[in-house]
Amino acid sequence: MAKPKLALYWAASCGGCDVAVLDIEVKILDVAAFFDIVFWPCATDFKYKDVEAMPDKSITLCLFNGSIRNSENEKLAKLLRAKSVVLVAFGSCAQEGCIPALANLTTKEAIFKTVYLDTPSTHNPDKIFPQPVTKVKEGDLEIPVFWEKVKSLDQVVDVDYYIPGCPPQSTQVAAVIEAVIDILKNGKPLPPKGTILGAGDKTCCDECPRTRKEKKVKQFYRLHEILINPDECLLDQGIVCMGPATRSGCGALCVKANVPCRGCYGAPPNVHDQGLKMLSAISSVIDAQEPDEIDKIINTIADPTGTFYRFSMAHSTLKIADL
Ligand code: SF4
Ligand code: SF4
Repeated sequence: MAKPKLALYWAASCGGCDVAVLDIEVKILDVAAFFDIVFWPCATDFKYKDVEAMPDKSITLCLFNGSIRNSENEKLAKLLRAKSVVLVAFGSCAQEGCIPALANLTTKEAIFKTVYLDTPSTHNPDKIFPQPVTKVKEGDLEIPVFWEKVKSLDQVVDVDYYIPGCPPQSTQVAAVIEAVIDILKNGKPLPPKGTILGAGDKTCCDECPRTRKEKKVKQFYRLHEILINPDECLLDQGIVCMGPATRSGCGALCVKANVPCRGCYGAPPNVHDQGLKMLSAISSVIDAQEPDEIDKIINTIADPTGTFYRFSMAHSTLKIADL
């Protein structure tokens, strides 16, 4: 009997999601034994034309990581959607834009100016910017078109499931792959469309072993500015920890290592906007009544927008990119 077909793709991403797949260690052998891997640019030498030649819906499962930054990312998202029965937004970039979507705070023009003119290592006296098509005597040279803003996968195609994380924890990846194999082998029903796989249904705080007390913050600190109590809640100590605004599932990895949660598992259940949820959590811990004093305390938070929306800018209700 023909094996189910598996595709893995990276769009605008750092490659960490592909490493997370390899990090499942010997279980990768089960994946290779059960699936026919038909496309995985990071690890194999299939070409786009190989995918284009496949019949629609011939790929059983596609794990798509990376956000949609340019025309190539979008073309592949649409192609893989057409060819796949189940399309999974794998990792924070595909789920909600992640670090690449922080670029939505600025414009394409400003990004190009910084990269191709203002960077000290750039020598560009003729002020040449990359063009989608360049005519040379042999014909037209094409490169992908850089979009004005970064989108999540579900902002360009229909997505069946999401696996959060930057990257998803390998234990969670292994659990999801095992569950998928079980479903396909034993004819079990798929979870409802839109389900978040490989994560919990609480917040990171619920997995955190630190002791919480009444929160009365007079000043926020960056990590290097104070000596951290290893047992006490970081937010109680005035360190911005995204735990209250982040879905459980990683086992509170960062906070256990004395580093605040940055929010990579995305918003918890029933929270539409992770940044706004964090804003609400922050406002409840500030110990001040007077507007001036509140402003002073808030101003001690370094880069609030980038901190609260580090992973979820593409899904932000602020719609900063449209301003
Ligand atoms: S805010 Fe951070 S440190 Fe505090 S309980 Fe939540 S996850 Fe733990
Ligand atoms: S603690 Fe937060 S930032 Fe760290 S892995 Fe977990 S969800 Fe991601």
